[in-house]
Amino acid sequence: MTENSEKLFQEAVKYIPGGVNSPVRAFGSIGSVPRFIKYADGAYIYDEDDNKYIDYIGSWGSMILGHNQKAVLEAVTEACKMGLSYGAATAVEVEMAKLVCELVPSIEMVRMVNSGTEAVMSAIRTARGYTGRNKIVKFTGCYHGHSDGLLVKAGSGVMTAGVPDSLGVPEGCTRDTLSAIYNKLDSVKEHFTRCGEEIAAVIVEPVAANMGVVPPEPGFLEGLRSLCDEYGALLIFDEVITGFRLGIDGAQGFFGVKPDLTTFGKIIGGGMPVGAYGGRREIMEVVAPLGGVYQAGTLSGNPIAMAAGLTQLTILKEHPEYYRELNNTADWFFKKIKEVVTEAGLPYQVNHVGSIGSLFFTKEKVTDYESAKTSDTVAFAKYCNYMMEHGVYLAPAQFEAMFLSVAHTREMLEETLDIMKKYFLSFPYKKFIKN
Ligand SMILES: *Cc1c(COP(=O)(O)O)cnc(C)c1O
Repeated sequence: MTENSEKLFQEAVKYIPGGVNSPVRAFGSIGSVPRFIKYADGAYIYDEDDNKYIDYIGSWGSMILGHNQKAVLEAVTEACKMGLSYGAATAVEVEMAKLVCELVPSIEMVRMVNSGTEAVMSAIRTARGYTGRNKIVKFTGCYHGHSDGLLVKAGSGVMTAGVPDSLGVPEGCTRDTLSAIYNKLDSVKEHFTRCGEEIAAVIVEPVAANMGVVPPEPGFLEGLRSLCDEYGALLIFDEVITGFRLGIDGAQGFFGVKPDLTTFGKIIGGGMPVGAYGGRREIMEVVAPLGGVYQAGTLSGNPIAMAAGLTQLTILKEHPEYYRELNNTADWFFKKIKEVVTEAGLPYQVNHVGSIGSLFFTKEKVTDYESAKTSDTVAFAKYCNYMMEHGVYLAPAQFEAMFLSVAHTREMLEETLDIMKKYFLSFPYKKFIKN
């Protein structure tokens, strides 16, 4: 039953574009209505019709400890009693910055902002300010927030400058954004060969997680590192998803490749709106008020958000076993998903790195945006609706990740696998299959 969600949605569309405050919450691509959420606890989320779901979104990965983690909740409650925001310096910001620098070795200085979008936008401005160069290289299918210069469609060839992927973005804003192909070093090399002296930075999701989960192939991140070094460009890891998820030191620790600048979001806020960007001291020193790169924020580093983020990061730091267990459990879970589809005779692909993964409805190995796009999104939509109707809350799009948290128990994962099995093995399913 989704009666209450449907009613709310009818109201919502009158006042909010598409009825949602972020398009990823819309269920249009699976032909359904968004579930309006009433509350969440641990790995469960409950909607306005009192449906209970095992939650595989977890606020897009932010809730790595599960919903309503006791210590995080307490820290926020206590902070609220002291006033919600001052627009002035606080002790908790110092503690937070110190902790981030301690946990992530490539970071010597860090600036707090309010979202991943802001973090990336500011990191790019910093890279440009530091190098005195304008061009950036980004990978098709990687998402870096909704700032103008990063909403870029791949050009007709990799040699062309970016074409805006959104109305309202002037071509001038994307002229300096060059597109490359994920996992194809040659596509990056071409840009450097042609205009290496003009490239300020290469920005990459060290594990792509916004075209579904696509792992970096061995040598890819290392190759980016050496190309950037060769041409004096900065390497930016957008760790908004992978940061504090693959391990306490993120993808850079997991793969052992050190970026010059790193961006964070999601987990760093513990469920509150926080983003951050940081890197080597000499680079971060170009940021205002020390240097000439302007970046500011009325609510940046506000005490409530810092209390949530600091507490979540502190718990993660104190429990290294969480990462071991989470990653082991995820290895098992995604392997089981592959077994389920294989048993059903479906050639589908399962990609995962640590506790994020995707089931792609395609027989092609998924290594970049092109191969991800071979997925049968109609078949995905049917599957997704079935899972939702049976108490498994998934991102309503093929090109998103499943996020596990430490609150997901083996029993919950077993239950999820049983529901998948029921669907793929007994549902009159094959008629939806394209390839
Ligand atoms: C979510 C995301 C962003 C944008 O963060 P917001 O907080 O939504 O602005 C940027 N980069 C990556 C890799 C993301 O997944």
